[in-house]
Amino acid sequence: MTANEKANIASFLDLAGDYLSGGFRRPREGYAFADDPADKKNPADAKFPAETESLPELPAVTETTEQSPTGEGDSLEAVAAEIAACTRCGLCSTRTNAVPGEGMRRPLVMVIGEGPGADEDETGRPFVGRAGQLLDRMLDSKGRIGLSRNSNCYIANIIKCRPPGNRTPQPDEITACVSYLVRQIKILKPRVILAAGNTAVKTLLDSTEGITRLRGTFTFFRGTLLMDADFNIPLLPTFHPSALLRDESLKAPVWEDMKALRAKLCELDGDYAARMADIPL
Ligand code: SF4
Repeated sequence: MTANEKANIASFLDLAGDYLSGGFRRPREGYAFADDPADKKNPADAKFPAETESLPELPAVTETTEQSPTGEGDSLEAVAAEIAACTRCGLCSTRTNAVPGEGMRRPLVMVIGEGPGADEDETGRPFVGRAGQLLDRMLDSKGRIGLSRNSNCYIANIIKCRPPGNRTPQPDEITACVSYLVRQIKILKPRVILAAGNTAVKTLLDSTEGITRLRGTFTFFRGTLLMDADFNIPLLPTFHPSALLRDESLKAPVWEDMKALRAKLCELDGDYAARMADIPL
């Protein structure tokens, strides 16, 4: 309220008082009021935005890392972005590039190895060195297995950054990293997992048995140990391709594993079975 408005009200009240107390107007000093401070003004005087004024921009909805048990709402791109920025374990300080994985969505086969080597660290792609080239040859086997990361496979590792000197990943590094792989499995929902090498097999099956005993026999990756949903994905343990580069004698058992993989895929996938029907082993 302004000083002038207050003076008018005071004058009116004085006049009314004089009238009620006999009708004689008594002389008075001038009124000394000040305007109310700005922040004490009547809220009713506040200026509201006109209806035509636009509302302020709402903040963009950002993707969160909280995911459903079945991978709904998650994406390979979101997982890869988190891996690229990850500092959960010490391997972040020695990597050149993190290596999330690559291949097809909804693959027939998800190949899971141990971790990136020097070539993978340099390129950010999985299985691109000599072992990776051998893996590509194993998966295709001159068309007799008919699998490829370019058409029906996805390739990833248990851990996403290279351990120095290609040493075996330590348990705390696997514990820190494995949730990225779990999210990838949930998103991709492969028909079959091919677990290559000891680290992959032991981690995925929570087994202390070595690869030599477990290879060649299908089991199920039920996921209940690592995932909060029961996935029942057939899993075939086999030797890591880098082991074949060191020991040629492992090629024969791996070929048996590839034939078992083809037979399982023929059972599970009619399109694959039809494609392979005229291709002899
Ligand atoms: S290895 Fe896995 S947990 Fe460790 S820094 Fe790389 S992405 Fe993160």
